[in-house]
Amino acid sequence: MSATEGQPAFASRVATAAKKVLSTKAERFTESVIREMTRLAFEHNAVNMAQGYPDYPAPAEIKEAARQAIADDYNQYAITWGAKELRDAIARKFERTQGVRVDPEREVTVCCGSTEAMMATMMGIINPGDEVVIFEPHYENYGPDTILSGASPRFVQLRPPDWSFDREELARAFGPRTKAIIVNTPNNPTGKVFSREELEYIRDLCVRWNAFAVTDEIYEHIIYDGTRHISMASLDGMRDRTITINGMSKTYSVTGWRVGWVIAPPDAATPIRKVHDFMTVGAAAPLQQAGVMALELPPSYYQKLAEGYQAKRDRMLGILTGAGFRCFKPSGAYYIMTDISNFDFPDDVSFAQNLVEKIGVAAVPGSSFYDDPTMGARQVRFTFCKKESTLAACAEKLSRLRPS
Ligand code: GLN
Repeated sequence: MSATEGQPAFASRVATAAKKVLSTKAERFTESVIREMTRLAFEHNAVNMAQGYPDYPAPAEIKEAARQAIADDYNQYAITWGAKELRDAIARKFERTQGVRVDPEREVTVCCGSTEAMMATMMGIINPGDEVVIFEPHYENYGPDTILSGASPRFVQLRPPDWSFDREELARAFGPRTKAIIVNTPNNPTGKVFSREELEYIRDLCVRWNAFAVTDEIYEHIIYDGTRHISMASLDGMRDRTITINGMSKTYSVTGWRVGWVIAPPDAATPIRKVHDFMTVGAAAPLQQAGVMALELPPSYYQKLAEGYQAKRDRMLGILTGAGFRCFKPSGAYYIMTDISNFDFPDDVSFAQNLVEKIGVAAVPGSSFYDDPTMGARQVRFTFCKKESTLAACAEKLSRLRPS
């Protein structure tokens, strides 16, 4: 039809527009199952043990610092790669806790949460066809991070019960096209904390294949039974090939503030900063200011945080074991991966669906953490960063569950 034959009706123009092929990259991943489970928890009035965010108040002094920052008029854009005082505080804390000295002027970039930090990192360092090694089960965001940045993932299994990896399998995943390996320690969803020996083995592969280690250390202070968190950047030879991702969310119980950061050597920080700037310009200025105060909290703050979560972990292990789950005890982070073989369900998704609809507890199906969903078909993840009344409600509801 030519333009002179008259305008097509509005509805048919909309229909024509809808036929356009939209992003084929976005078609390759689903919406976040973790966040979907939170929506279902609200819908079914279920106890939300799915998404990892605290349901108790954030520390009073941090909230007061944010209020004060707004009153003091930190209300316009901060420098795109982060307020100087916050970058300085991040550099000081990294040196204090991990002994790694970084230049806040060139090596620290503040982002909107570690989610953006990871995406900006991947978009900043990856070319199409580059390979990225990813341990699985893995935090679900790494899938879309890989697809949107154009990387080809190479998955390496962490195997229960201790979530160790096969060294040969890892070595085989590296090659001349490897741009990076993603290491998440303490690990979501397994609670694994990588040992120095494991990190050194990974280090040797990174050096051999000239690859970056991108390490997501967001749970660094949530660690149990005297286990130590070791930053990859602190290992000999890794200072300049490690990109460390972290943030305020988990350490200071402010997951909604969206303040995270990337610590990267200058050659990597330059493209990461550009991607970050054009994606978000910057994280909320007054909340960055509150971060300056938070990052100077004394060691006792972190000790109490870990002790509090260890008690919750033990409580949740008791609840889940009592209800018939086989639990893999975490050494860090605030999740418990479970095996659901004792229950008569075809897979993790139908189990989680029944759990949220009929029992009233939301959890995350294990398949969300694997490339191949069948790998997670016997697993379900529970979080325990919840107040005692929530844990008690979870216990009460799960007591209605009947193992077969
Ligand atoms: N890290 C949290 C989890 O795994 C959720 C983070 C998020 O939803 N952005 O549950």
